[in-house]
Amino acid sequence: MRIAAGLIFASAVSLCVAGAAWSQTPASKSAAAPQAAPAPAAAPAPAPAPALAKAACANPDALGIARTVEIDTTGGPGFGFEHFKQLDFLRDKEVVLTFDDGPWPVNTASVLKTLADECTTGIFFSIGKHATYYPEILKEVLAAGHTIGSHTWSHATLTNKKLTEDQRKEEIEKGFSAVKWALGGVSPAPFFRFPALQHPPEMVTYLGTRNIAIFSCDLDSFDFKARNAQQVIDVTMKKLDKLGKGIILLHDFHKHTAEALPALLRRLKAGGYKVVKMIPKAPVQTLPQYDEEILKDTKLPTVSDRPVSSVVQTISQ
Ligand SMILES: [Zn+2]
Repeated sequence: MRIAAGLIFASAVSLCVAGAAWSQTPASKSAAAPQAAPAPAAAPAPAPAPALAKAACANPDALGIARTVEIDTTGGPGFGFEHFKQLDFLRDKEVVLTFDDGPWPVNTASVLKTLADECTTGIFFSIGKHATYYPEILKEVLAAGHTIGSHTWSHATLTNKKLTEDQRKEEIEKGFSAVKWALGGVSPAPFFRFPALQHPPEMVTYLGTRNIAIFSCDLDSFDFKARNAQQVIDVTMKKLDKLGKGIILLHDFHKHTAEALPALLRRLKAGGYKVVKMIPKAPVQTLPQYDEEILKDTKLPTVSDRPVSSVVQTISQ
């Protein structure tokens, strides 16, 4: 390991202006679902199949999915007008829902249920560490047909000058490898979001060489600052009604966001907004050295989670 975990963590804490959503340790050991972790991804798994067939929607008044767009990530295109203004692909009244910082107990499940109730979808930008804590939750996100990208390994702010170039790359690469590991070897989308939307130019260029698309946003809900669910709805709708469309930044990590989502999606529907699903043309190609680092990081805790009595039983003496 070239990086002292504490360094990255401290950097993330000190530089995360947003202040609320850096990588956390698991909520509690018991919440970490100490069931068998997924088998290490020894063999390359098939790419996630794009959801071509629309599943039947039981809710006739659902928000739904208006259209699905496939993204060719060659050269690392940037999305979200807060930072990237070249690709204006959304039509009037179209939105893309994005959820950062999961997977996380309770809140991610709540977001999944709300999306399912409205037969709609979003992009989940997972933190690598969180994916290793809660692989089963991330698998549920995949099983529900949503798009999964990455949001670094530990939510380090990559503009932090204390990080070397190798450390910045490791944050990016290990994040993707961790998500892939959590998904049992299924590669996520080559979709990446920088923590705190801080874009170091050399890493933007690097992502281009890796054919990974970069997601800023068109409007930030600032849900991590919200004091309650209503505030999440009010801020989001005010900005959206002004812009008329856009990629919306939310956090499945946050309680208020999970609580706000049912009413927020109703407001979108009532306002005539339509959800666009973004899928990649091809999955991300992770780098083997980082896949191996994840295996090293996750192997021992998986074993030690099980009590001896469940592993070794005397059957004769
Ligand atoms: Zn974040």
